[in-house]
This record gives sequence, C-alpha cells and structure tokens, in this order.
Amino acid sequence: MSLKLESKAIKAAVSQLSFRTRAFINGRYVDSSSGKTYDSVNPATGKPLARIAACEAADVNLAVKAARKAFESGVWAKRPPAERKHVLLHFADLIEQNLDELALLDCLDAGKPVTDCLTMDLPDSVHCFRWHAEAIDKEYSQLAPTGPDHVAMIVREPLGVIGAILPWNFPFQMAAWKLGPILATGNSVVVKPASQTSLSVLRLAEIAAEAGIPDGVLNVVSGSGSVIGTALCKHPDVDAVAFTGSTEVGRQLLQYSAESNLKRIVLELGGKNPQVVFEDAGDIDYIAGQALSCAFWNMGENCSAGSRLIVHRKLKARLLARMIELSKEWVVGNPLDPATKVGPLIEESHMKKVLDYIATGKREGGDVVLGGNRTLLKTGGYFVEPTIFDRVKPAMTIAREEIFGPVLAMLTFNTEEEAIAMANDTSYGLAASIYTENLTRAHRVARAIRAGTVSVNCFSEGDSTTPFGGFKQSGFFGRDKSIFAHYQYCELKTIWMQLA
Ligand code: NAP
Repeated sequence: MSLKLESKAIKAAVSQLSFRTRAFINGRYVDSSSGKTYDSVNPATGKPLARIAACEAADVNLAVKAARKAFESGVWAKRPPAERKHVLLHFADLIEQNLDELALLDCLDAGKPVTDCLTMDLPDSVHCFRWHAEAIDKEYSQLAPTGPDHVAMIVREPLGVIGAILPWNFPFQMAAWKLGPILATGNSVVVKPASQTSLSVLRLAEIAAEAGIPDGVLNVVSGSGSVIGTALCKHPDVDAVAFTGSTEVGRQLLQYSAESNLKRIVLELGGKNPQVVFEDAGDIDYIAGQALSCAFWNMGENCSAGSRLIVHRKLKARLLARMIELSKEWVVGNPLDPATKVGPLIEESHMKKVLDYIATGKREGGDVVLGGNRTLLKTGGYFVEPTIFDRVKPAMTIAREEIFGPVLAMLTFNTEEEAIAMANDTSYGLAASIYTENLTRAHRVARAIRAGTVSVNCFSEGDSTTPFGGFKQSGFFGRDKSIFAHYQYCELKTIWMQLA
C-alpha cells in the first residue's frame, strides 16, 4: 500500500480511478452479447457508480467455450508446476502494485471502510495468491503399498472448467480465496462476481492477463445470478462450481447440478455464529473489544460474524457495560474516510431487511441497548447503527436467522453444558469464539462446538495455512484456503501398472 490513510490523498486517488465495466472473455474485454448494461450503485450515496455489462446465457457459453479450449490445449493445466508458480507469483506482485486502486474499487462498490480494504482485504488477497502459488511445486503424488508385481500411482488432476460464483461482502478477497487454489491446480475458470460488486474482479482479469495467465484460463462474466449464475451451474461443460453465498442459493445449486451433468458443487454458506464467554474468561476489556469486532466488523456483513454473544450470567452486566463504552469506537460514516469503521449496508433492500430484523427483535421481547436505527439519511446511503439486543431468548428470530448486518443478540447461561447446547442450537456451523482461561475447558468446548473454525480467546478466521468452511448448513464439500482447498478442485486418479 502506498496510499496515505488520509482523506485528501484518498479523494485524489478516487478522482484518478477508471472502471472496467465489460465482461472479460478469452483474454479481452467484451460487451455483453445483448449489449445490455445495468447500474452498479454506490451504497454510501445511493447513486450509480458505473454501468456494467449485463451478461446472459450466450455470454456464459462463450466464456465456458474459451475456458474449455484453454484447458484442453494444456497451455495452463499441463504447464510445469514451477512455471505455473512463477506466473501466479508475478500475478500476486502485480496485484500488490495495484493494491490501492483495487482497494478503492471495493470501497466504492461495496461500501467497505477504506482502511479495511487497504490494510486487510487486499493484503490478505496478495498473501493468498502467493501461498497457493508457492504450494504448486511442493505437492507430491503417492505410491500405493502394492506387492512387487505392480506399481500403483495415486495422482491428482485438475477438474477442468470451474465456475466461481462470488458474494458481495468481500468482493476481491473471495475472488482470491477461490482463484488461488483453482488456478494453482491447473484449472480454467469462469468467475461470476456479485452483480453489486463486479468492479475489482473485472480489473483483476486484466492484471491476470498482464501476469501471463493465458487467454481463456480466467474469464469474468458480470450480471445477475438468476440469469448467468444459473446458466453457469446448469452448463453441461462446466465440471464444478465453487460458490460463496447464502444457504438458500447454495441449495438451488445442488439442484442445478443434479438436473445437469452432476458437476461438483463446492459451497461456502451462511452462519449464525456464537461467541461464548465463560465465567473464568480473562481480561473483560479485551473480550469486549473482540466481541464488538466479531459482531460489527464489515458492518456485520460477514459470514463468520459472531452475531450471538452467549455470556455467563455472572459476567453479563460487566461485559455489556464495557461493550457499550467501547462501541463509540465503531464510527459510522463515509467509507472513504479512514476514521470510518462502519460503512453502509450493500443496498437499500438489504438495509430494509436488517431494519425489519431489528423491529422483529423488539416485537419478540428483545431490549435494544445500543443503536437500532437507520442513520446518516442525508447522504442517501444505507447506513444502520451498530445494534445490541439484551434479554434475547434462543427461540427468538434474531437468535436464529442470519441477519448479515451490525446486529448482536446477547443471551445468558449458567452451566457449560447449557452454553454448548446454546452454541450448537442452530442449523449453521461456520465459526465460533470461546473465551476461558481454563485450558482443559478450552479444548473440551472447542471439540464440542459443531463449527468449521473455533477461535479460542480471540475472533479469527485463521490464515492462508488453515482451511475455512462450514459444518451443517454452512457449507457443502467446501473449504477455502490451505492445501485442502487444492484437493477439492482436483480429481483423484489411480494408475495401476502390471510389472510381471
Ligand atoms: P447470495 O444472494 O447467495 O449471492 C451469492 C452469489 O450467487 C451472487 O453472485 C449471486 O448473484 C449469485 N446467485 C444468486 N442467485 C443465483 C442462482 N439462482 N444461481 C446461481 N447463482 C446465483 O449471497 P450474497 O447475498 O451475495 O452473500 C451473502 C451470503 O454469503 C451470506 O449468507 C454469507 O454468510 C455468505 N458468505 C459465506 C462465506 C463463507 O466463506 N462461508 C463468505 C462470505 C459470505 P447476484 O447477487 O449478482 O444476482
């Protein structure tokens, strides 16, 4: 990052931005075949930001054709691993060189605070590409333990053409989490970013070409999920779809696969994640800070948001009081302002959905002890105050459904068994945090919670070395990050050889 975290410098950099608004197919930008476009709206102002190509099934066909041709030619899939590694490392270097621009695109398009884009999303994405690139020439195949008359090799081969369907909450970072392992394992890909947030991924495609990723290997189609997402998922020549998004849409993708060619479907879905604070937890100031980050970071538009704070009855009052004091740090404002920690929600309809949940929480008996309202109306943006509900009961809607906004529900417990039961009382299983100074309890509870990532005494999604994905209805056959992500984009082949 070379951009100073200072309003004047950021404003100047924004005025220099230009947008890539067309689909990227077979190594070049193209209009949608129908010529149609749609508005991408800046959620901080409610005003249009750019007009983006509205692709349709015909464009998906072209992109899949280009991806298939590139795959079959072997120009990427059969390239020696060390060479693929060098190209991907160069790609990561170029992303880093363009980090400020990509961060600003995500900030404008998704309303994400600029400081987060510059210091978290983009650096993490660069690191992600480097990690997967470095892994390419360090993976070995296996020999099975046969007798002397046979040699049996177990090798991994790329799947072929993969569709990657992305959400809007981490536009660039989710692309990196998918593309890192998909490209590292030699596949070709057709990416569909969320229609609200296509700008950084459309720019990424150009950087990939500059880095030397061959034409057709990485294609981007922009437009609506119900049109091009569906076309990609039903396409008979797509071998797999990697999806991050809602559980509802994930469920449909499994149907599309069953109705088409039984393509592999890899799903990263929603969450209703618990943060559990035991009576023997450590520093309450620290925990209050972590609990707020876990609930309000990225406006709560985060699959791993800890939207249920499950606290031992003895600690509740003290923790809540400290959280309310510290909540002043969660400044709501223009996402381009480096001091802003809470930007707008992604779009008007989503804001209304979040406000409806707040109304339901009140109606069902929850006490709003912080926030609870839309704010900064004059901006035209979709801002909602960070909100805490006290006196929430496990059966209430706000304790059960993924709100995907800055809304935290506080529940209390008396015993460890009760806490574990509450934590697991959800159809989701993506992430959890637990706070305790007792090491034995930490191990015991971490094992007992049914979630893909359990953080002890912190809020974390791990790093590039650790798999990320969900139990239960938070995922299906999917893990982003780490070497485990490589395996899901490969087929396992046995080569059995007779020697005598
Ligand atoms: P979404 O509504 O499910 O959309 C995700 C993507 O699917 C978008 O690109 C969308 O396109 C596309 N889509 C919509 N309908 C489709 C269909 N019928 N066929 C194929 N594709 C379709 O989710 P979102 O609102 O963008 O993202 C929020 C959700 O993602 C939350 O539930 C969150 O928990 C989850 N998430 C999970 C993880 C994880 O790692 N587990 C990470 C981040 C987010 P359009 O929107 O352009 O129409």
